[in-house]
This record gives sequence, structure tokens and C-alpha cells, in this order.
Amino acid sequence: ALQARSLSKSFGTVQAARDVSLTVEAGETLALLGPSGCGKSTVLRCVAGLEQPDAGQVFVGGREVTTLPPEQRHVGLVFQDYALFPHLSVLDNVAYGPRRRGETKLAAQARAYEALELVALAELAGRFPAQLSGGQQQRVALARALATRSPLLLLDEPLSNLDEKLRAELRSELRALFGRVGAGVLIVTHDQREALALADRVAVMRAGQIVQVGAAREVFREPKTAWVAEFLGWQN
Ligand code: ATP
Ligand code: MG
Repeated sequence: ALQARSLSKSFGTVQAARDVSLTVEAGETLALLGPSGCGKSTVLRCVAGLEQPDAGQVFVGGREVTTLPPEQRHVGLVFQDYALFPHLSVLDNVAYGPRRRGETKLAAQARAYEALELVALAELAGRFPAQLSGGQQQRVALARALATRSPLLLLDEPLSNLDEKLRAELRSELRALFGRVGAGVLIVTHDQREALALADRVAVMRAGQIVQVGAAREVFREPKTAWVAEFLGWQN
């Protein structure tokens, strides 16, 4: 679903991403894990096309998209501050993407209903964002990404801003949802439980670089360096 090759991105003197390569297979979830400021969002933004890398290439579904604008990359996005349009109903929020890409209103809304059903919110389609709980809003943001029917979903801390109970609930919902949708998923998180619960593989970043990547359990069981071990909370 995704191949990122040697992505580098600097902001002034800060090297936010250094030679980052990663792949996400179709149907696979890869979690990008690392401390605040290590470059996780930068990598995601380069993949999404919201940031132009200084060097490197991005392939989505085998097609090079490195210089394409976000809306031509066939990716679904959920960002930390999932910003829904307050003046649009839940249904129209979700239908917005398909509509912008030229689908008829009816087709876009049908697709939006489908996506809302996937996140179990079809009944609230007529409400406005302000009439939803935080967790429901977050699910609407997910539905919006799903409605693109993209082969690749990019999620930046999709469960932030939620209390622990809701996070736990959505964690298990998401895993099942990703399974049903069959898309490749690249999810950024600094929550290790989230990574373990959701991801098939984990990539650990430090200071702009990927320092370890592997099957989720393996990375947690066998950190390769003292730094990764410490980051993952191992006591020595
Ligand atoms: P967090 O977990 O806090 O979200 P992150 O791993 O997502 O952190 P990034 O947002 O990718 O980190 O930032 C990586 C580095 O690049 C940081 O030092 C950050 O200050 C810097 N940075 C990111 N975006 C910009 C920007 N637009 N302009 C200047 N510096 C930036
Ligand atoms: Mg970030």
C-alpha cells in the first residue's frame, strides 16, 4: 500500500526526518512510535503530501506520488485535531471528500452512510459535530477517512483527546475495523498500548530516524538498543 524511500525533511537547522524508509503492506497496520518531536508527524505529512520532503520518494499502491498534491494521492487522513466542519452535519462532513472529488451528492452521501455504518454512527448522521461526544467526533473523523476508500489510511494520534476509557474502547474497535476495511494503515502514536493493540509491525523513531522496526511483539520483547529498551519502559 505504501512505500516511503529515504525521506528527509529539515526545518531550518532541525532535521525532522533523516533517511526514513518504511513500507506498509495492504491490510497491514504499521505503528510509528517515538518520543515527542522525533519526527513522526513529519513523516506522515510527507507521505500525505502536506509537506514536501527535501529528498526521498513516496509510492502509494505502487504509483509514485512524491510531487502530487494530497487529494491525488489516494490516502485517507485523520489528524490529531481531527477538525470537523461545525456547520455541516455528520453526514455532510463525511461526504465532503467524495463530493470534492466530483461524485454526485447522492453517491457521496451513500458512500458516507456506508462509512458511518463502519464506525457504528449511522444513526447520528443528521447531527452536527457540536452535538457529539469527543469519541463520537473522533469516529466521524475516521469515517471521513474511510469514505475516501483509500488503500492507505494515515492516522496521527487518532485517539488523542479522549479519556482512557474511550481510548480503550476505540482501540479494540479500530483493530476490527481495519481488518474489515482491508486498507494499509500507518498510525502515529506515542502510546505503547495502542501500538501493541493495533499494529502488526512497529517502527521506533528517535531524532528523525527509524532505529528499530519489526513485528510488534518482537520489538517490545527484544529492543535492539538500550535507548529503545528505555523508551519502551524496560527496567534494568
Ligand atoms: P509529537 O509526538 O509531539 O507530535 P512528532 O514526533 O510528531 O512529535 P514532528 O511534529 O514531526 O514530531 O516534529 C519533528 C521536529 O521538527 C520537531 O523538532 C519540530 O519542532 C520540528 N518541526 C515540525 N514541523 C515544523 C515546522 N513546520 N516548522 C519548523 N519546525 C518544525
Ligand atoms: Mg506529531
